[in-house]
Amino acid sequence: MNFLAQFWHAVAKVFNLPRRLRGLTDHRQDPRIPPPVLWTTLLLGAVLRVPSFLQLQKETTRRRLQRLLAWSRRLSDDALAYGTEQADLAELRGLLVSVNRTLKQNKAFEAAKINGLLVVALDANEQFSSRARCCAECCQRQVKVTSASGAVEEITEYYHRQVYAQLHGPHFSVILDLEPIRPGEEEAQAALRLLGRLRRLYGPRFFAAITVDAWYTKGPFLLAVQKLGWGVVTVLKQERFEVYQESEALRGEHPPQRWSWEDRSVAAWEVNDLTFTETRGPVRVVVAEEDWAEVKRVGGRPQVQAKHAAWRWLATEELAGYPLQTIWRIGHQRWGVENHAFNELTQYYHLEHCPHHEPVAILAWLLILVLGFGLFEWFVRIHGKLWRQGEVTLQELAKRLDRALERWEELEPLWSG
Ligand SMILES: [Zn+2]
Repeated sequence: MNFLAQFWHAVAKVFNLPRRLRGLTDHRQDPRIPPPVLWTTLLLGAVLRVPSFLQLQKETTRRRLQRLLAWSRRLSDDALAYGTEQADLAELRGLLVSVNRTLKQNKAFEAAKINGLLVVALDANEQFSSRARCCAECCQRQVKVTSASGAVEEITEYYHRQVYAQLHGPHFSVILDLEPIRPGEEEAQAALRLLGRLRRLYGPRFFAAITVDAWYTKGPFLLAVQKLGWGVVTVLKQERFEVYQESEALRGEHPPQRWSWEDRSVAAWEVNDLTFTETRGPVRVVVAEEDWAEVKRVGGRPQVQAKHAAWRWLATEELAGYPLQTIWRIGHQRWGVENHAFNELTQYYHLEHCPHHEPVAILAWLLILVLGFGLFEWFVRIHGKLWRQGEVTLQELAKRLDRALERWEELEPLWSG
């Protein structure tokens, strides 16, 4: 069967996608292009990794896309831009949530669990850094630049940044939702808004804990997450924290636990029942020292270099009953080999280059992009097991989609199913 048709049959059957796309609306008045045609075009553009609206416009002039959309007119890049500006973001989020809920019901996240816990990683990503303000929601910062004459001057740079909630597994990753960081706002504030919405949209028990980087340890963030009902594992860095110094002083009281992980030997200590003023209840600190050897070619000759990494995490009391190794695994999840969603999205889905710079359009496109990414990842890694068998690379699978599109006679309209 045609690869694109296969993909669409699978997402139609499992996620009821055509019916959901037919039900989408947006805020345009009397739209010339019906919302299902517009949003299916955009979703298809995301799955096929089309990098710009101009490129997508060109695609819509071709018979193959016209057949898939059952729409025989071109969608101009202006129409795509205006359509995304007028998006109903709640509806697009609803679509993403329903797909992720189905994935969970179908046990797609089982392999991602750590000791039975599903853990969400929060991470931020940046777009459109420029020297001109482009929209009302652009963030700004001062940066130093060196001019042609060698003089250093300070200029204002404008950019956009969003916090993403990701579920990582050994086989595949999905984005649960994302939230823009507003001008002048701290990343943790946007993260809390995101977590509050995740709780409303997915419920408090969809996942058990979150893992974040060190700067989230500041201020009321940890306590706020605990109040939402989740445990937190965070990198502990600031030596000004008493809890850091206390854990350092106490960890020598017991011998470390030792184990091997891939090519690393790990020694880890835990210090329990520490008081931390910014959490509810006592915290635990886990310290890990990891050693491994790396072979590098120096002057054409392989040379073995000894490598060492040290980690320190803080875990809140919701995770008190779990062994030390569980905290270590959760802490590592954000940086480990399993963290591929961002890499994939950045490298192959043009995450950092939104096609239209306008606050609503940016979010609409990102929601469609992570939806398309999640569906394709699920299809090739879980449903078709194409990638897991190691037979083909993801890039070849994406090319297979393009080739399938060439044989458009084999395809049926996408949202008629
Ligand atoms: Zn902007």
